[in-house]
Amino acid sequence: MKITDHIKKANGKTLFSFELIPPRKGKSIQELYNNIDPLMEFKPPFIDVTTSREEFVYIEKDGLLDKKVTRMRPGTIGICASIKHKYNVDTVPHVLCGGFTKEETEYMLVDCHYLGIHNLMALRGDAMREEQYFKPTPGGHEYALGLVEQVAEMNKGHYLNGMVETSDCSDFCIGVAGYPEKHLEAPSLKTDLKRLIQKVEAGADYVVTQMFFDNKKYFEFVDLVRAEGIDIPIIPGIKPIAVKRHLQLLPQVFKIDLPQELIESVESCKNNADVRQVGIEWAIQQSKELMEGGAPVLHYYSMGKSDNVQAIASALF
Ligand SMILES: Cc1cc2nc3c(=O)[nH]c(=O)nc-3n(C[C@H](O)[C@H](O)[C@H](O)COP(=O)(O)OP(=O)(O)OC[C@H]3O[C@@H](n4cnc5c(N)ncnc54)[C@H](O)[C@@H]3O)c2cc1C
Repeated sequence: MKITDHIKKANGKTLFSFELIPPRKGKSIQELYNNIDPLMEFKPPFIDVTTSREEFVYIEKDGLLDKKVTRMRPGTIGICASIKHKYNVDTVPHVLCGGFTKEETEYMLVDCHYLGIHNLMALRGDAMREEQYFKPTPGGHEYALGLVEQVAEMNKGHYLNGMVETSDCSDFCIGVAGYPEKHLEAPSLKTDLKRLIQKVEAGADYVVTQMFFDNKKYFEFVDLVRAEGIDIPIIPGIKPIAVKRHLQLLPQVFKIDLPQELIESVESCKNNADVRQVGIEWAIQQSKELMEGGAPVLHYYSMGKSDNVQAIASALF
């Protein structure tokens, strides 16, 4: 079922969902299942699985370091299929521009269609770790907009290289990223919003936001989007703070602000177990307010460990 249909069916009730990261190459998928198991009692209608682009690794050979490119967390589509069948839940693979040609993306979309995966998040992806700016992959898309257009075309039976085949069209529900505090590369929130509107006009069906810790930012963002005449669901992304280092890391990586009250609560913690508890309590408060404010779904960034998301969900769902 499409995410948008899940939301319609819920009839105003806020739904619960979360995002998972594939295990590192060579690690067992059982670890993912162990994290999903305790969250299933909260009846997520869908689970997202991220995609990690390729990265540089250095292999020692004859005393010299050989630079190679590899994908450390492959398997997104396979994981989506296995979770879907094991738990009978919809899964949402994240599809990236970075690291994939349009042709490879088309194959991936065909796989999803055959597997009965009807939702996806269309994302640009970040720059490679050692690169300062995002460089489009040769033969790939420069912006998420191009990816949305490719999926929307495929939904009409239009494949790459002018091939048209409408006998068994896909019907993907397309999610895109939105940034209440603007994307880090955007010159202004207004310009970033213009880019989001382009993605919606190209066929995006819903938005999932970057994490934020001050709900005012989300509600203001929703108002700005609505003022542009866009009424698709805007799903807030919530990340529970888990370690003290997040105070530096999250603003640095995502260019987001942390409320002073949260900073002071985390700083006063003696250890990371206390920080995890502060993160849980903050996320519960945030979630309650978002529910009251009519958020269609609360989408949690679990980062592979579900105990804190479980504690939050127990208080809410
Ligand atoms: C909910 C969510 C899930 C995510 N999941 C993943 C994941 O699984 N894997 C991963 O690697 N990353 C993921 N990301 C991170 C995401 O890939 C990065 O934030 C990335 O830098 C931007 O992706 P985007 O899809 O928003 O890009 P875009 O919409 O393409 O925007 C990127 C930047 O380009 C600008 N822009 C857009 N169009 C144009 C144009 N025509 N001309 C000039 N500028 C333009 C935008 O304003 C923005 O600053 C996720 C982010 C979110 C919010």
